[in-house]
Amino acid sequence: MVTAEAAVFENELRERRTRLESLRPRMPGSSEIQMLLREVDDALLRLSQGSYGLCEECHDPIEKERLLADPLIRFCLDHLTVQERRAFEQDMETARNVQNALLPKAGLYAAWEIHYLYQPLGVVSGDYCDVVVRDSDPTRLLVLLGDVAGKGVGASLLMSHMHAMFRSLSTQRGGIDQIVEQANRLLCESTQQSHYATLACVETTPTGEVEVCNAGHCSPLVFCRHGASEIASTGLPLGLFSTGKFPPTKIQMEPGDVLLLYSDGLIESENATGEYFGAGRLMAGLQGARDLFNSEAIVDLCMRNLSKFLDGSKLNDDLTVLAIRRTERSAA
Ligand SMILES: [Zn+2]
Repeated sequence: MVTAEAAVFENELRERRTRLESLRPRMPGSSEIQMLLREVDDALLRLSQGSYGLCEECHDPIEKERLLADPLIRFCLDHLTVQERRAFEQDMETARNVQNALLPKAGLYAAWEIHYLYQPLGVVSGDYCDVVVRDSDPTRLLVLLGDVAGKGVGASLLMSHMHAMFRSLSTQRGGIDQIVEQANRLLCESTQQSHYATLACVETTPTGEVEVCNAGHCSPLVFCRHGASEIASTGLPLGLFSTGKFPPTKIQMEPGDVLLLYSDGLIESENATGEYFGAGRLMAGLQGARDLFNSEAIVDLCMRNLSKFLDGSKLNDDLTVLAIRRTERSAA
């Protein structure tokens, strides 16, 4: 374990020790507190001896996300007891159900047609994806696609947190830059430093005017009659600095135009020769996107191109792709 990491865990362990000590007067004679204090002290000892974070069975490093969530664990996932394994699998199943219940409906939304593919690498995903009709103006849609740092249950919980936060913020008046700014402040206040998220936030109108705030996320792609272009990031990821600004990029989309949002799991997919799929290849493969006439076919084409490129190599990250297409039918 490198020094900076050890310092993080030492801090975490000492904080837990202080918390346990402060609980003692409220639970006099509690054997549980005694036992946990002993475990914390053992962990601090292992940290000073350099064996902290290694599985006591196989001596391989324990999964970092799990250790961050519970700095007292002593075994890697492969070496849990039957009971621990059952509990772990139950937790993952619950996390997956929670996550699936939060996914938005694909299909027609007024003058827009939306389709997406949400594919976790493991049981749960750290990608965030939502479509929200704005309360303050039901002709406007918010489309959100983000990527939470980290993996596993921790990332999926932060994803649920973002879901609830943006659902709530979307009911307020104001532009998406204000919504994203406030979300950033809330995340800065409420999560650990290691918790941050990139996000593309899109607001559509019935007349095809679209605003995009890109907070450190992979550039959304626009396909119009004149070709394809990227919408670069104009802000840092959310949850890093509370003063962040996220100026929106405005575009005009005509009937048939397509906006593609995706997570880095798509463009950072690597083939057997160590090459990335990349935004250039993604864009080139979708030049005919406007002629496909529906967003589901566009997402399918994108995935076919990726699978051809990977040629059997496995994905290495959560992956989300979402296509928003302005329908031919022009809204009033
Ligand atoms: Zn092990």
